Amino acid sequence: MKSTTMKSTCLAPDCKRPQLCRGLCSTHYAYTTRLIANKKAPSFRVLEERGKVLPAKRAGRKSGFVTWLNGK
Ligand SMILES: [Zn+2]
Repeated sequence: MKSTTMKSTCLAPDCKRPQLCRGLCSTHYAYTTRLIANKKAPSFRVLEERGKVLPAKRAGRKSGFVTWLNGK
């Protein structure tokens, strides 16, 4: 499996935008999400197995942020 951990730009070919989520930039991530919703692309889980996208970050930090945001 190709290591992409050091790459900080979008995994899409010829895309130089910074990664936002799953190794994709905001544009490609939104586009991929739409393709999956329209059944025009396999799920993120399959794309992840194929090395097309990176595993989603653990939700811990994000949920921690929500807790912080809602705390007093
Ligand atoms: Zn991109």
